[in-house]
Amino acid sequence: MSLSAPPTPPGSPSGPRAVDALLADRGQLFRALFLSAPIGKAVVGLDGHLQVVNPALCALTGRTAEELIGRHLDLLAHPDDIPVEDLAPPHTAGEPALDPHLEVLGERRLQRADGSTLWVQQARELVRRTNGEPQFVVLSLVDVTDRRRAEEDLVRRALTDPLTGLPNRRSLTDRLQHALNLSRRRGGPVGLVYLDLDRFKSVNDSLGHEAGDQLLCQVADRLRWSTRVEDTAVRLGADEFLILAEDVDDVEALRTLADRLMRVLDDPFHVNDREIVLSASMGLTLGSDAAPDSLLRQAHGALTRAKENGGRGRVVVHDEALSGGDVDQLQLETDLRHAVDAGELRLFYQPIVALSDERLLGYEALIRWQHPTRGLLPPGAFLDAAENNRLTSKLGAWVLKQACGDAAGWEPTLRVHVNISSRHLAEPGFSELVAASLEESGLEPGRLELEITESTALFAAEATLRSVSEVTASGVTLALDDFGTGYSAITALHRLPIHTVKIDRSFVADVVTEPSTAALVQGLLQLGQGMGLEVIAEGIEDADQATWLREHGCLMAQGYAFGRPAPLPASPAPTPA
Ligand code: C2E
Ligand code: MG
Ligand code: MG
Repeated sequence: MSLSAPPTPPGSPSGPRAVDALLADRGQLFRALFLSAPIGKAVVGLDGHLQVVNPALCALTGRTAEELIGRHLDLLAHPDDIPVEDLAPPHTAGEPALDPHLEVLGERRLQRADGSTLWVQQARELVRRTNGEPQFVVLSLVDVTDRRRAEEDLVRRALTDPLTGLPNRRSLTDRLQHALNLSRRRGGPVGLVYLDLDRFKSVNDSLGHEAGDQLLCQVADRLRWSTRVEDTAVRLGADEFLILAEDVDDVEALRTLADRLMRVLDDPFHVNDREIVLSASMGLTLGSDAAPDSLLRQAHGALTRAKENGGRGRVVVHDEALSGGDVDQLQLETDLRHAVDAGELRLFYQPIVALSDERLLGYEALIRWQHPTRGLLPPGAFLDAAENNRLTSKLGAWVLKQACGDAAGWEPTLRVHVNISSRHLAEPGFSELVAASLEESGLEPGRLELEITESTALFAAEATLRSVSEVTASGVTLALDDFGTGYSAITALHRLPIHTVKIDRSFVADVVTEPSTAALVQGLLQLGQGMGLEVIAEGIEDADQATWLREHGCLMAQGYAFGRPAPLPASPAPTPA
């Protein structure tokens, strides 16, 4: 810009006459373009000192003209902003050297006299003398604070849960990615605690949604205050929360955090003068090399297992987090599919004995995966992956055929137990598969027992029930596994033609030391006998447990005390013929 009149095309509306008239009174022009402009403007020396300011700039910055004139632009800069040298674009060669504050173009943050933040759009015009020499700069500062606030508010709202004020699921992905990047650099893994309130639905149903909302806010507050500064509590939706723990040492440290959260939620809540006692289930995982999504999936998978069979207040750690390796779930599925064809699966057999004289009655087949790089894997490390797709039937068919084939070579008195997943049982063609396995191996149907879980029996659809009755009609028997861990064990007994119940090892573990467990197991034993069922106690690890069970009328047993699961040739119990 130059204060001399620009050449005006002849005949244009503001012809040479009008310009001449205006320039004749430069003071009037200056007032019109500068002083009364609604935009903050300043004439600034090339060194960044303010020479003239307009009232709009004074209003914008909250300072009088006297306070501004003669001062360096530095006065207006925001103290928390990055150094102005970094804000400004690189200097273009051949252009006059200006103070860095004058080099900044576009949006920048300033500070008002009262300390509040101001966002402006900064533009400049270099004014030269008639000989071309730079003289000063006219700086324009347009207030964009409101727009900026609105934008920030939008972003904040998009990333915050409106009810609890906690960060939401959308913000989690970013934070998790950031934490993982950091952890890779620092070495310590990132831990996730996926938390789900137990029975929250019943609070909502009985006290109303408003009370439910209040409760969720109180839960959020407790989570917020009970995590360390380096941890973040996130609300994922409904009654699901997640704690992202940065820089945890190991699984034990993560468990400690989960225990603390559990205790924090233990104290009763108060909503509308009602006292509410809550519990939560938690899924834990740990990693540094995983993708955010797969880490989340792991934690969610662990939570699902914690809530299985109506579980409450349980904490489950993701299997790979326990074994130390991070395994991508998709990769696991692919590898597992390959494992079936490559012959990497093994069946281990654990003896089932008569408690009276430890006579061998049969074996339970338990699957293992001889993984090419990770070694021998227990079913907990990979069965979930099989449950997610068509692998279920492939894997199940392999187990059935292998187990029947193996058992056909044993002494004819020995039976074989095979675990069946509910998904596989529900698939069309299951009864045909059993028939084919028996026929191919020549195993007598009466020597095969299929183990299913309570929830399988409870939620079995009509088609499953039909398929099961076809199987049992041939002489194959059914066992209800992990008996007592579900919430409706007795109902499950009525839905299917159950032959045997297997008392879960969690009861057997403290049957000797815990009177309430002892009473419960006694009840289960009586129930079994009363219904004419066979009862097997699982997970007997020592002689005291064996004695107690024998004395209380249990006839059959399985557990490390009588033999661990092992491959057939090295079976610790009498080798079958
Ligand atoms: P399950 O059917 O209840 O099998 C018993 C589990 O308890 C086995 O774990 C066994 O190794 C373990 N166990 C036995 N005695 C003792 C003991 O004295 N102390 C302790 N602490 N544990 C004992 P495993 O082999 O890891 O199998 C876990 C579960 O995986 C099984 O529980 C079963 O539900 C499932 N599973 C195993 N093989 C198959 C299979 O071929 N197909 C299907 N669908 N599921 C299977
Ligand atoms: Mg079993
Ligand atoms: Mg069991």
